[in-house]
Amino acid sequence: MIYIVEKGKELGYSFSVTSNGYDIDKYLDYIKDNKIFSFQITLDGIAEIHNKRKPHYKNEDSFEKIFANIDSLLKLGIPVVVRINTDTYTIEYIDKLLELFEEKGWCKYKHFMAYCALLRKEITKKKDGLPSPKTIFTQSEFCRSYYKKKLSVLSEGKLKCQDYNTSDILKSLLQGKSLPYKGCFCGAQSGMIIFDPLGDIYSCWDVVGIREQRVGRYMPEFELDEELSKRWFDVRISKYKCVKCKYVLFCGGGCPSFSFRDKGRVEPGACNDYPKLFTFLMRQVYNDYLKK
Ligand code: SF4
Ligand code: SF4
Repeated sequence: MIYIVEKGKELGYSFSVTSNGYDIDKYLDYIKDNKIFSFQITLDGIAEIHNKRKPHYKNEDSFEKIFANIDSLLKLGIPVVVRINTDTYTIEYIDKLLELFEEKGWCKYKHFMAYCALLRKEITKKKDGLPSPKTIFTQSEFCRSYYKKKLSVLSEGKLKCQDYNTSDILKSLLQGKSLPYKGCFCGAQSGMIIFDPLGDIYSCWDVVGIREQRVGRYMPEFELDEELSKRWFDVRISKYKCVKCKYVLFCGGGCPSFSFRDKGRVEPGACNDYPKLFTFLMRQVYNDYLKK
């Protein structure tokens, strides 16, 4: 890994690292001497929840070690975004997690941000020894709970809610600013590539390891497979029902991986509650930013 980083450094690149955060302490000296990294690290909630859902295979210190590693990174001035996997059970304890962030003084750092991300239905249903959530969140209910708990205010704007940029788009719209309209849903359709350890290339995090969804290989040579990559990179939203939808330029056609898991096909049209999310956020953004 260090070889790749050194090569990138030589070419003037910086690195955005998405990690479970457990082994970062082993690299702290290197990170300290090479300020070219930023991190996204995932927590599944407070220690009692995280350690059950993401136990270390040997030690029982998963949450504690990751938490300490995030603290070390922040103290070194390294940008960290904490992703908090959220469902109807974990959101009940999110205030406690926020208290821990406050105790550590993380919310005062300019280079710290956190966001709640909705756990998909099938992950939420998984048996993990914790009480199962009474209900499954839809996307709009998830955002509603976030606003109801006033998490943005309590965290001084440091804890956001994953809403596919919809609130930012709406803020721009309501303030008459220029708008980043969407022709697709996410980077997986516009050129993102992920290298897996076996030599395959994917474009969506969620399907890494499902070989039929790869878009090419990078060993022994870098090669994008024309047919396979078309599925992700050559989707025309205009050929699907989305073209008639009034939200299409804000939504971009929904998450293709969601559609793959739901219908077995990578294609636009998995609404996942987007119209309700849009309406709810429109009201929220109006009340928060314009009415005042
Ligand atoms: S397709 Fe869906 S799951 Fe895959 S990267 Fe995009 S938003 Fe994430
Ligand atoms: S996925 Fe649904 S909400 Fe999104 S553009 Fe298509 S029809 Fe509209």
